[in-house]
Amino acid sequence: MNMATNTATDDMGASFPRSLDPDACWAAVVARDPGAADGFVYAVASTKIYCRPTCPSRRPRRALVEFFTTPDLAELSGFRPCRRCRPREGRQPDPAAPHVQRACAFLDARADEGPVTLAAIARHVGVAPPLLQRGFVRLLGISPRQYAAARRAERFRERLGRALTARGCDVRAVASVEEALAAAAQDSPELAVVDLKLPTGSGLDVVRALHAIDPTTRIVVLTGYGSIATALESVKLGATHYLTKPVDADQVMAAFEGRDVTQDRPTVAVPSLARVEWEHIQRVLNDCDGNVSQAARLLGIHRRSLQRKLSKFPTAR
Ligand SMILES: [Zn+2]
Repeated sequence: MNMATNTATDDMGASFPRSLDPDACWAAVVARDPGAADGFVYAVASTKIYCRPTCPSRRPRRALVEFFTTPDLAELSGFRPCRRCRPREGRQPDPAAPHVQRACAFLDARADEGPVTLAAIARHVGVAPPLLQRGFVRLLGISPRQYAAARRAERFRERLGRALTARGCDVRAVASVEEALAAAAQDSPELAVVDLKLPTGSGLDVVRALHAIDPTTRIVVLTGYGSIATALESVKLGATHYLTKPVDADQVMAAFEGRDVTQDRPTVAVPSLARVEWEHIQRVLNDCDGNVSQAARLLGIHRRSLQRKLSKFPTAR
């Protein structure tokens, strides 16, 4: 058994804060609880329709049901309001919903590429960046950057999962510290890939727990720029290798397969100084949503030196 744990490559400081407890929601639907009438809506995959918890229509099978905090969110996911319980009534659509929807589609299509600036997304959607930013936070509870980071992490997890499956591994992909610990407690993995940056908590907690459950589990950790100290800490806690992002499935497999040669020594893919600088600049620039002046201030250099650096091509590695 094998497990790939990776999420939220970038700044997923907060995950989706408006998450619902699906069990409590389902209980309210089963009871047609009037107290929950406006608390959330439920959507049915087979009919693509969403309802209030109190809808008099026949209850769907649990497996087909998904819960959303608002009608806007259900509609963003492609569901239509029910004609019987009219879940829209009394709740005006959020004016930002169409913009957010287009932005999500734009980001979904680019999840395999690098970070996109807020300015670029706003340009594509045709709305002012602050409006788009506020609309995202209001409707989804996260910023466009956090949304994009979550999609990229999801895509990476899928790719890595497929690559490992193709090599005969039985893969379990999980998206949080809690899910990772639950999966490991059930069946401890032989190999584990852990991203040190997780939406809730630290990958170090996962490494510590995996090592405690089974000291023979080979653990490869993935780390971002400026986190080498954390990566070394993870090796102390039981990780066998660490790789600096960006990484692909081949590199992860190489780290696992290189075990006979470098059993006790962590392998590190060392990028050149120029490459690290370039990545650092791109990252900070993205954090500032493409604002060069702000990025220059954060980096402690002049605006014009930053512009000079930006006009150069990135070094390959
Ligand atoms: Zn209904």
